[in-house]
Order: sequence, then C-alpha cells, then structure tokens
Amino acid sequence: LGGSIARALQQMSNATIIDEKVLSECLNEISRALLQSDVQFKLVRDMQANIKRIVNLDDLAAGHNKRRIIQQGKTSVVMFVGLQGSGKTTTCTKYAYYHQKKGWKPALVCADTFRAGAFDQLKQNATKTKIPYYGSYMESDPVKIAVEGVETFKKENRDLIIVDTSGRHKQEAALFEEMRQVSEATKPDLIIFVMDSSIGQAAFDQAQAFKQSVAVGAVIITKMDGHAKGGGALSAVAATKSPVIFIGTGEHMEEFEVFDVKPFVSRLLGMGDWSGFMDKIHEVVPTDQQPELLQKLSEGSFTLRLMYEQFQNILKMGPIGQVFSMLPGFSAELMPKGHEKESQAKIKRYMTMMDSMTNAELDSTNPKLMNESRIMRIARGSGRSVRDVTEMLEEYKRLAKIWSKMKGLKIPKKGEMSAL
Ligand code: GDP
Ligand code: MG
Repeated sequence: LGGSIARALQQMSNATIIDEKVLSECLNEISRALLQSDVQFKLVRDMQANIKRIVNLDDLAAGHNKRRIIQQGKTSVVMFVGLQGSGKTTTCTKYAYYHQKKGWKPALVCADTFRAGAFDQLKQNATKTKIPYYGSYMESDPVKIAVEGVETFKKENRDLIIVDTSGRHKQEAALFEEMRQVSEATKPDLIIFVMDSSIGQAAFDQAQAFKQSVAVGAVIITKMDGHAKGGGALSAVAATKSPVIFIGTGEHMEEFEVFDVKPFVSRLLGMGDWSGFMDKIHEVVPTDQQPELLQKLSEGSFTLRLMYEQFQNILKMGPIGQVFSMLPGFSAELMPKGHEKESQAKIKRYMTMMDSMTNAELDSTNPKLMNESRIMRIARGSGRSVRDVTEMLEEYKRLAKIWSKMKGLKIPKKGEMSAL
C-alpha cells in the first residue's frame, strides 16, 4: 500500500502543474492501493470525490484570504458553531489569540447560556490571553447576550468580535434554531464550524446540518493531536463547501495551526507530516549531515545506524521536543506525549544495545541478518536481555517499514517545501 501511494504522490510531486489529469491519475493509483487493502468500495469512491474537493481547497483558502471576509482594522463579527465538546470555546480563544498576536484587537462574547460554567470557561481563557470578554451569569437568552456583546465591542472599536455559542450533545432542532437566531441578530461576517477530528463517519451529516441552518463559511478541525487522522475533515469540507482554515493540535492556546493541505493529506495516507518533518530536519540536524540523511531517506534504506544517528540527534536536543511527534511513525508508539522521560530512557537503552552491534549489522538492510546467535551476542555484550534486543529490533523493523514508503520520493530542499 505504502509503495503505490508513494508512487502516486511522486507522480504528483514531479508534475510541474497539477491539473485534472495528473490528479485523477494520482487518485486512481491511490484508490487501487486502498481497494487492494480491503477498504470499502463506497468509501474509496467517496474519498476520491472528497480529495478532488480538498485539492481545490488551496484555491478556496487563498480566496478566503484574498476576499478578506474579515479585515484587520475593520469591525468584523465571527460566530463559532459546533456540537458540545467539539472545542468551540477553546478554539474561539485560540483564534482570538492568534489574531491578537498579529496586531488585531479581538474580543470574546459568550453566548452559551445552555451549559453551566460556559461563561467561566471563556472568562478564564480570555483572562489568560488578556482578551476582553463579555457574558452574563444571569441572562438566559443567548440572542440578547450576543447582541449586547457585539454592540459593546463595536463601540470599543474592536476589529474581531468573536461570538462563542452553545452546543448540544446531539444534533437537535433547538440548537439549530438558536444558531439561526443568534446569526440573524448579530449578522456575522463569518461563521466557523468547529469539528472534533475524531467524529469520523458522522462528519458529513453533522456539518451539513449546521450548514443548513446557518451560513457556515469556514471549518476548523480540533484535536488533531489525537489518534484520529481527521478524514472527517474531507466530509466537512464537502458538506459545507467551505475551506478548513485552522486545525487545533492540543489544549493550549498556542496549539493552533493554519491549515495546510499537504501535510494533512500525507497524514491521512499514513505518511506522517512530511513537510513539517523536513522543516524540523533543517532546524535540528546539523547542516553538514543533512544531505547524507536526505539521500539515505530517499533511497528508503533505513538502517539501524540511521536509527542510531537519529536517536543521537534527539538526545542532543535535550528534552524531546516536537520533532519526534513529526517523524513519520515515531510519535505515537515510541514517543507517547507526556512520557518523554520514559521515551528518553528507552532510546538510551536501545543505543546501548546498538553499541554492541558490528558495523555490518548497523549498515545492513537485510532484516534476516539478525539471527538468534547475533541477538544473543548483542544481549550479552550490552548486558541486556534477549527480549530487550528483540524489542529494539522490532521497533527498528516497524520504523523501517514506515520509512520505506519514502523511497523514491523527491526530497524537498529547504524553501521547497511545497514540492510534495
Ligand atoms: P465546546 O463544548 O465546543 O466549547 O468545547 P471546549 O472548548 O469546551 O472543549 C472540549 C474539550 O476539548 C476541552 O477539554 C478542551 O480542552 C479540549 N480541546 C479543544 N481543542 C482541543 C485540541 O485541539 N486538542 C486537544 N487535545 N483537546 C482539545
Ligand atoms: Mg463551549
């Protein structure tokens, strides 16, 4: 599967202009690979249609910026909608904070009167980021609060007035009616639909239901730091005919990124965040070692020595940073978030065992080389158990398999990140 997808993507990255034809060929190749892996036919067909849509997304996103639905210095109202728990309140503040850092004057209005504690949550976020806020503990009419908040901040010449709304656990008529009323009363310049990346198959219906009640103009996908690959985003885009503009990648205010279609698609296809990873290589790996590493990667020969060198780079960085979360395949299993200490100890343990390996073993690309007697020798030499050595080799095999997908891919040079 990895091989054919890599081939398809390579075709696409080699083409100077990605037109309908190139895209279709690429999609056919990917679809064939997916069908061979027993992915449902309907799903593959839908995905084809959805990817065609997402590829246009770049244009849409560019259009979004060009048309300047919202413009710094001019008053604009942005309303957030989405189910309860999707991440609206968090995302509102991230969105406000992001713009504040760029010189905007944002303000937050809490029009969620449904959930107890909603105003407190918004207040806390707003205080942390020093953003003015408006809300009430007494008033139960969301429309009234929304209007008052927007009016207040218009008078204060705030140029980005953000209205946070309530959600429900389910798609309910009452929620959609409330959204319609708030929208009608506050006349937002932009309505952003917030969606949890893990909702999966339900994404299309959910997004469509919101789009039918209010004029959704953009989508933000949250919790992209979790296990979900966010395939539902494709459905949300298709259902709302709106671009994804940002993604949420954690609970903190800074964990918020402008949506970039390429790493998203490669993540969707299980290839890791390729361009983010390349950026990090340029940042972290010493310049003189880069060409060699990139060369090895494009050959798809991920040797134990290469793994050892990567471990060295990581340990040099001190506390394991973001880099590892971007390395294809490294993140989830080897480096679970919040377990950096254990991960570091594990890496050191692996390296000790690799220190007992011969050059031939380190440079070999033949997985059969590591037979029982070699494993026993390494275990003795490093003072670890056979089980430990086997575990390390399993980890290597897992990584090598993922890295083999990179084989033949054109490695973008610095500043050429859009090549993929
Ligand atoms: P709301 O009900 O739609 O307003 O959702 P909240 O903003 O209250 O978020 C629900 C939960 O999701 C909270 O615990 C947030 O901290 C969490 N959350 C929101 N965005 C993200 C994200 O991008 N990543 C992670 N891991 N958690 C998130
Ligand atoms: Mg909320």
